[in-house]
Amino acid sequence: MAGPRIRLTKDLSPSLEHYLRAIYDIEQEKGHARVTDIAERLGVAKPAVSVALRSLRASGLVDHRAYESVRLTGAGTTRAKGVSGKFAILAHFLTEVLGVDDKQAIVDACLMEHYVSPTTMGRLLDLLRFFEREDKQDILEAFRAYRRSCESDDTCPTCSFHCDIVVPGPGAHAGN
Ligand SMILES: [Zn+2]
Repeated sequence: MAGPRIRLTKDLSPSLEHYLRAIYDIEQEKGHARVTDIAERLGVAKPAVSVALRSLRASGLVDHRAYESVRLTGAGTTRAKGVSGKFAILAHFLTEVLGVDDKQAIVDACLMEHYVSPTTMGRLLDLLRFFEREDKQDILEAFRAYRRSCESDDTCPTCSFHCDIVVPGPGAHAGN
């Protein structure tokens, strides 16, 4: 059976979501964000920030007039918090449950945060809460130590088609 055709159409690009998150973080730290702060935080040039701000302003997510500090609107704050929350849950899942090293987890969580559905995020949070329970620590430990062994494509019950996913040894870090 052919899978559904996935269309990754979003009202905001991942890049603009990063801008929202950066503005939110700076607001939390300093009370207000300036173009210079945002450029520094994201490692981009100031003209790039201005272009992004124009777009976010058109979407009603920020308030910004030339030479003044940037402010998230109510909708912008909600959106920024949503992205930050998804990132935190994904990073936690990748490091604490899957045992992916911190550096790779940050990269992966930053990609996934833009596309994972609220339904899947909700279930992921359920999984984290489940493993936080005292009586589930043994299961979590056992899972973190487990590595599958696939002798050949034919014997793998899960991937019925050829997959080139590397089977890492226990303690190995993805991406190394
Ligand atoms: Zn991201």
